[in-house]
Amino acid sequence: MQENKSLHNALRQVRLHAGKVRLCGFSVSGLATYLQLPELDFCVDMGECPVSAIGINHVFLTHAHGDHSRCLMRHHSLRRMMGVERPSVYYIPKDLVKSAEEWIHSEAMFEGVPEARFKLPKIVPMEAGEKVTLAYRKDLMLEAFPVKHAQVGKHFLPSMGVTLYNHKNKLKEEFLGLEPAEIIKLRADGVNITREVFDPLITFMGDSLGENLNDPALNAIWDSEVLVSECTFVDDDEEEMAQKKGHTHISAIVNALNAHKETMKCKFIVLNHFSMKYSAEHILESIQNKIPEEFREKIIAFI
Ligand SMILES: [Zn+2]
Ligand SMILES: [Zn+2]
Repeated sequence: MQENKSLHNALRQVRLHAGKVRLCGFSVSGLATYLQLPELDFCVDMGECPVSAIGINHVFLTHAHGDHSRCLMRHHSLRRMMGVERPSVYYIPKDLVKSAEEWIHSEAMFEGVPEARFKLPKIVPMEAGEKVTLAYRKDLMLEAFPVKHAQVGKHFLPSMGVTLYNHKNKLKEEFLGLEPAEIIKLRADGVNITREVFDPLITFMGDSLGENLNDPALNAIWDSEVLVSECTFVDDDEEEMAQKKGHTHISAIVNALNAHKETMKCKFIVLNHFSMKYSAEHILESIQNKIPEEFREKIIAFI
């Protein structure tokens, strides 16, 4: 296997479309991961903060590992330096909020910010199963879910995946086909004529063990139009390593695809976070050889 050094430049941005969603970012295990959705004003993780991230107002953090979190405050401070007035909002797993605040404070003190001038950025603690509307995009909602990733002793580090929903109000079935004047009248009479609809646009697994893909509690991930899953390991003899390091092996993706093929609504499955030891050719060859043909059209390698 030949190492491909061009894969390893975290500022070399990968840009691609997965259906309606444009994804710009970088993701190599241990180096850096950040995934921007410019049109949706949203970014997952901030392991690197290129200038293109400055305009993005909402950032979700999956977990605390440095290759995902390192540039969170660089994002915050670059925006202030560039004169962006709107405060950015950081959506962080609830169990990480306290240590994140301590880390942010220590970093500010390290940089010599006077205590009196120190101010925490806007942080929204994310709890499993709670839908949260994005601060500046009322049409978009987030729902985080816990995933199993790295284990320390008996405990897993707090890690979450996230689904981004398009949130709309639609006319209830019984009112479809009514004239506009009738609808206006019903509304004026205080009749509740709409129902809430949540369309799952994209789900990010974050760093996670392959078994999360087959967890019945997480079945909803297969309803998203786009599913972004890590695929750190692809070689035949690395399944045990994937398990030990809390990551997903390509064989777990194949199992999950087979298990969900009758019910899945995903049109695209983006694989990211490949180990830094693989070349681009090796990754593409592994997908070609290991993902069954019936799913291959859905698969996009984020390299
Ligand atoms: Zn990672
Ligand atoms: Zn990690």
